[in-house]
Amino acid sequence: MSSGEFAGQPVMILREGTSRTRGSEALSSNIEAAKVIAEIMRSSLGPKGMDKMIVDSFGDITITNDGATILKEMDVQHPAAKMMVEVAKTQDSEMGDGTTTVVVIAGELLSKAQALIEKGVHPTIIIDGYRKAAEKALEIYDEIAIHVKPEDKNALKKIAITSLYSKITAEDRGILSDIVVDAVLQVAQSTDGKFEVDIDNVKVEKKAGGSITDTSIIQGIIVDKEMVHPGMARRVEKARIALLDCALEVEKTEFEAKLSIERPEQMQSFLDAEERIMRDMVDKIVKSGANFVVCQKGIDDLVQHFLAEERISAVRRVKKSDVEKLSRATGGTIITDIKDLTSKQLGHADLVEERKVADDRMTFVEGCRNAKSVSILVRGGTERVVDEVERSIHDALSVVKDMILEPKMVAGGGAPEAEVASRLKSVATKISGREQLAVRDFAESLEVVPIALAENAGLNTIDALVELRSLHEKGATWAGICPFCGKVEDMKKLEVFEPVGVKKQIIKSATEACSMILRVDDIMSASKMKTGGPPKKPGEETEAED
Ligand code: ADP
Ligand code: MG
Repeated sequence: MSSGEFAGQPVMILREGTSRTRGSEALSSNIEAAKVIAEIMRSSLGPKGMDKMIVDSFGDITITNDGATILKEMDVQHPAAKMMVEVAKTQDSEMGDGTTTVVVIAGELLSKAQALIEKGVHPTIIIDGYRKAAEKALEIYDEIAIHVKPEDKNALKKIAITSLYSKITAEDRGILSDIVVDAVLQVAQSTDGKFEVDIDNVKVEKKAGGSITDTSIIQGIIVDKEMVHPGMARRVEKARIALLDCALEVEKTEFEAKLSIERPEQMQSFLDAEERIMRDMVDKIVKSGANFVVCQKGIDDLVQHFLAEERISAVRRVKKSDVEKLSRATGGTIITDIKDLTSKQLGHADLVEERKVADDRMTFVEGCRNAKSVSILVRGGTERVVDEVERSIHDALSVVKDMILEPKMVAGGGAPEAEVASRLKSVATKISGREQLAVRDFAESLEVVPIALAENAGLNTIDALVELRSLHEKGATWAGICPFCGKVEDMKKLEVFEPVGVKKQIIKSATEACSMILRVDDIMSASKMKTGGPPKKPGEETEAED
């Protein structure tokens, strides 16, 4: 109850206007919302999955197949639907891929749970059953996983290709997977056989124009800026780089200051003083020996002019993250006060060059002191294409990283899900009581992956599922859906591989989200400031405080 009675006085607990939905109503409202999200995602799963076009309130359009992006761009309102968005986010940040799958599986788990609840099984029993099933599923994944060497380029390439296959990048997967694998291997660090990979060291820069096949890997950092002054050299060899997080301008006063000038000489001396300050800044740079300046803030026209005279090139208003990447790549220290600049803080690179890319000019910093810095310059027909390619590359970089960190893989096409389902079902028969039903349902929920892949490839899902089940029972571990051949195939033979880590994380995240939603039996929503209360579904049992 949201209010009680104490000594004959009503006790108010919830703020006025709070609406409340309880018990099975609350649960089914949450499950329905989560199922809607899963339903939306389902048609975009796999290489034959469709894309989504999302238009935001500003009219900006995003076209994507990337689960995490679809959910991020969709303006989801329902709290349980928001939780599904969170699952995809977790999957994205932990593994970088499998975001659609995790949502689709979570939706299926909830849908099956709903049916069990309707039959009178208590949610906590379902949660326990799902937990048990998830633990077992993780074990099965480890059993069936194929072990490879972490630096096995061939395997890494296959992994990247599978990830790129389900995206706009399918056609160009060959070139792109090479770029992705090279990039990740370059930033990978191994100490005593243990690998560490920070894919943030791979800078992905995009520029619309050209075609996807023009995408290239650059040994260094690309900064999307041009040299500030026409008199500056566009090419600086043996660059000594000053990295500045301070403006090369005379600071303007915060408040409006009145300057009363009575005589022309006063004006002149004021200007002279300003010029002297700027001259000093440039002198400091000259003295440090720098021949290239990267400035996070602005550079005054006069400073630009002085720098050009001193044959020092410069770029300004460079993104903070880019300056940080340059610092790591060139070994330079970022200076916040120009007075501190000495030769010690400079970064080094073999070549800094401004080049024309499409209609823009970008600055390439190559041959950096730290060889572990690479950039991928993404190209493609239009802005939207490069955006989607960038997202696909992010997924591919992540799976290659995942694979290096845990070099075990499974085949794709829904084969591993079908295999885990098949083995789980035989585990279920050994469990007594109602939990058995939950374990069985968990197993069947995983089959939504091959089913959705078949659905999206236009296959008859019942036939495909029957065939898959019987093959897996006969020990065909890697029988899965080949959306291109339009039939059930041995996915290992087709060399469609995915890191087992992604699959395991999917199980963990989906189970967690599902238990979280199942455990809720009470929704208390504060009234919205503007609209005066959350939208109510017809017939919803709500109770407003009075
Ligand atoms: P997610 O966001 O979950 O990664 P995707 O749209 O990328 O979703 O689809 C991933 C699914 O597509 C995986 O189950 C994967 O095995 C499958 N898949 C990718 N490429 C192929 C292929 N060439 N043949 C069969 N299945 C594939
Ligand atoms: Mg994917």
